[in-house]
Amino acid sequence: MNSHDSLNMQLIPKIENGMVIDHIPTGFGVKILQIALRHSELSKIVITLGMHYTSKRLGKKDLLKFQITELPPRFLKHLSIVCPGVTVKRIKNYSVEKKIVLEVPELVDRLLKCPNPSCITNFERGVTTCFHLLERDPLIYRCNHCERHFSLSELEAVLA
Ligand SMILES: [Zn+2]
Repeated sequence: MNSHDSLNMQLIPKIENGMVIDHIPTGFGVKILQIALRHSELSKIVITLGMHYTSKRLGKKDLLKFQITELPPRFLKHLSIVCPGVTVKRIKNYSVEKKIVLEVPELVDRLLKCPNPSCITNFERGVTTCFHLLERDPLIYRCNHCERHFSLSELEAVLA
């Protein structure tokens, strides 16, 4: 073990059980925390934000720890649009049990509000939103109902 590893061990205390979001580009930790707090399932659990850790891949990184056995799928989808590329790890008995890298989703349902005021999803109760990925750079999604195209910055999440 070199001095770099021992420094990281000191800075990032291990957790026994929980979920960790790792490899967050530094500065995005706060943004992800704000998103997490908008999801009611996460509003009362213990969350730890760590910032500016040294990362071989990113230079500097942030990370978030959640004292929860599973992160809500809608939160993960939300996260995959806002900050694709982050790693989500499930920790059990101090070791990584499962690890996934979040990718930009092809389909986003029941999360985003359609910005088109005459879209049926904005006035018909019970009609839920669904968007398909059209382009990746920059991210463009198409509403399945009115078929209009929107950039990610135009799309707001609607959370209960
Ligand atoms: Zn629409």
